[in-house]
Amino acid sequence: MSLSKRITNLTGDGSDGWELFIRSREMIADGIDVTELTIGEHDIPTHPDILDAMHAAAKGGHTGYAMVPGTAELRDTVAARVQARTGVPTTRDNVLITPGGQAGLFATHSAACDPGDVAMYIDPYYATYPGTIRGVGAVPRAVQALADNAFQPRAADIEAAAGGAKSLLINSPNNPTGVIYGRDTLDGIADVCQRHDLWLISDEVYDTQIWEGAHISPRSLPGMADRTLVVGSMSKSHAMTGSRCGWIVGPQEAIGHLINLATHTTYGVPGFVQDAAVYALNRGETLEQEIAAPFRRRLALAKDILKAQNTVALVPAQGAMYLMLDVHATGLDGEGFANALLDTHHIAVMPGSSFGAAAARHVRVAMTIQDTCFATALQTLCAYAAQLATAASREGTARSA
Ligand code: PMP
Repeated sequence: MSLSKRITNLTGDGSDGWELFIRSREMIADGIDVTELTIGEHDIPTHPDILDAMHAAAKGGHTGYAMVPGTAELRDTVAARVQARTGVPTTRDNVLITPGGQAGLFATHSAACDPGDVAMYIDPYYATYPGTIRGVGAVPRAVQALADNAFQPRAADIEAAAGGAKSLLINSPNNPTGVIYGRDTLDGIADVCQRHDLWLISDEVYDTQIWEGAHISPRSLPGMADRTLVVGSMSKSHAMTGSRCGWIVGPQEAIGHLINLATHTTYGVPGFVQDAAVYALNRGETLEQEIAAPFRRRLALAKDILKAQNTVALVPAQGAMYLMLDVHATGLDGEGFANALLDTHHIAVMPGSSFGAAAARHVRVAMTIQDTCFATALQTLCAYAAQLATAASREGTARSA
């Protein structure tokens, strides 16, 4: 029996960028003590108050099929939150509740693209993007945001790639770079989308993790509300990764069709999870700040550690739970460095190339372990990088002598 090309080709060349992560997990299974700075998941569980709300909802009987578009209460809460944060009039008719942001990414691409259509995305990118696009039968086309431009995409580069495209996927605050797209970048993107009649799919799942500057939702830019589909999630903002609760915000007509898609795919999100999400969102910014605080603290620690050396360069970290480090002074690219670091010091970081060609000189460090262990691992990483850089420059001198 043959399986569809759509699912057998999901990861394209067969690599999904998680080889190093899998290798580190194998080492752990073999009893090796590996420090993992790989995955984007909090080191704290979901807040006990949120779990109490979930438990009460389940005990109260909210365990049957929930309304497919989402409960009226959660859709209203998300709409009010989005309107308050962006100023764009938003009602429950603009909101579909999804089982997490990932399902939202799949659904929005289904809405924007027919099979064979080109869907653009920005490289460096969150690892699932090209596979998600292939999953709906569309053709992924990467546009690089260069390290030399602080990983901000250039409108001219998007424009040059826009021929025949139906959509553009962006992500700010960005995983993996930690960069927030500024007003100029977003104005340029909005202009290209309008002139090329593109859907803009805006992945904003890190919008509560802002360390520097401000998050602007491109749906709020002039002329963009009718062509933007925003993907949001409770995963990062409320440490609810396992609850699988997110949303899509967009024009009413698109949401109507997306509800129809949900009827034929997910059939909704558990009611007790949605009730817990309403409770969590109603706790407001204080709880969000509490959940983001460990990353803010670790970023400050990292800045101090990195200030004391000059081998590894930090990409200015404006948001999200990651550090992007340029390691090319070691004489190795990100993949070579990540593998060597894992072998010699049992520290696992993600090669930048797992997130696209534009980050090949980099490694991504997730700030997702307890502060002291995090600081020790980063110090070890820096000392090892310095050692490699010295050896590389000696070798260079010997060669040129
Ligand atoms: N977008 C980005 C940029 C992410 O990093 C993630 C998860 N790591 C997701 C979407 C999906 O998150 P979830 O499905 O848990 O909402």
